[in-house]
Amino acid sequence: MTEASIFTRILNGEIPGDFVARTDRVFAIRDINPQAPLHVLVIPVTEQYRDVTELAAGDPALMAEMVAMAEQIATEHADGEFRLIFNNGARAGQSVFHVHAHVLADLEEDRLVGF
Ligand code: AMP
Repeated sequence: MTEASIFTRILNGEIPGDFVARTDRVFAIRDINPQAPLHVLVIPVTEQYRDVTELAAGDPALMAEMVAMAEQIATEHADGEFRLIFNNGARAGQSVFHVHAHVLADLEEDRLVGF
């Protein structure tokens, strides 16, 4: 059996996480290394999809649930506008291979982060 991802371990309470939303299929935690005033990770409970390519092919409805949660968080914690970033592959900056979306909000107009 492969080791649980860091996000699964946070979900299971083995590692602390700052939860901001949760349904039976999707949860959201604050990123430990924020790149914007609001930086939240939206993550499916299942870790069967490594990246957004696999997720979109395997369960587009789950991807839509992630987008809906991102919108809800941006509305509750910021002004409702947000960037949604999926790093897809190690050379594109992906370090955790349990698919997740970065939700960035409260951005300064002249400083849009790229990472
Ligand atoms: P990525 O590089 O796109 O795979 O994103 C992984 C993200 O997980 C990074 O932005 C990290 O800062 C974040 N991260 C890693 N460990 C933790 C943790 N224990 N709690 C919250 N976020 C984390």
